[in-house]
Amino acid sequence: MMARTHCWTSAASWLAGCAFLPTIGHPPSISVALAGAAVTAGASLIPDIDFPRSTISWSGGPATQRLAQRIGGASARLQVLTCEHCARRGLNDGHRGITHTLVFAAVVALLLASGVALVGGWVAGPVIWATVGLAVRGVLPWQLRGRFGASVFAAVATVAVVVASDGVWWWVPAAVGWGVLAHSLGDSLSVAGVPLLWPLRLRGCRWYRTGLRRWHVGTSRQSQGAAARRWGRGHPRDERSAGSEREQSSRILRLSDGAPSGSPRHRSSSRRSLPTVEQGRRSAREARP
Ligand SMILES: [Zn+2]
Ligand SMILES: [Zn+2]
Repeated sequence: MMARTHCWTSAASWLAGCAFLPTIGHPPSISVALAGAAVTAGASLIPDIDFPRSTISWSGGPATQRLAQRIGGASARLQVLTCEHCARRGLNDGHRGITHTLVFAAVVALLLASGVALVGGWVAGPVIWATVGLAVRGVLPWQLRGRFGASVFAAVATVAVVVASDGVWWWVPAAVGWGVLAHSLGDSLSVAGVPLLWPLRLRGCRWYRTGLRRWHVGTSRQSQGAAARRWGRGHPRDERSAGSEREQSSRILRLSDGAPSGSPRHRSSSRRSLPTVEQGRRSAREARP
């Protein structure tokens, strides 16, 4: 999804939420609705900080470029370290990793909520400035905003919002958390999908990407076959890895003279006990007169 689409859809969903609040007896103020929509729009670009060519990665020049490269690298290493299936596939570019999960959105919202609870406007103000600046970068083309247009507009808007908010800040973590979540939900509508449910292990992978077409099960036999192929592609139990696993287990079976095999734990324990069995036999032979 393009930055502009993320901004508009998340801002629209914030406004829809605000329109719903009066029905449960909590009508939001106009400033919460409008400023919240702008903050949500900007925050909806945050998850792509794992990708050096994204709007947020360009937003602060070389500094944010380097940050995006670091985060992408760390995200790729995290996938390899925490999932044996991903370890078999090796490092990827890290894009659409940890920053595209429900857990990430929740952690961002909770950290911000505690920051706002502790020091109020000193956290809320800079967050409003940064996210509104991002929203302007996401929505307006370069020709219209110029080099400093987004930062200057965001600074003026932040002063106006801080005055209008009158010390009420609950909506800032809500808007940022929702923006981050809306981004991942939006990306999960793509074919590639995102690991939304991390760290749940789905089909053998903790970083299993839930995408719109992956959940689609066709009705005809042909489309079921196509769906099965899609499931198989990029998934742990694709034919090649299953084949190599079978080969490995049969080799271990031969080496260990019929030691129990089956579950991965059994296999690895028989592999580990292999030298001891061999050593035991050798020492028994040597002990023989
Ligand atoms: Zn994304
Ligand atoms: Zn995996």
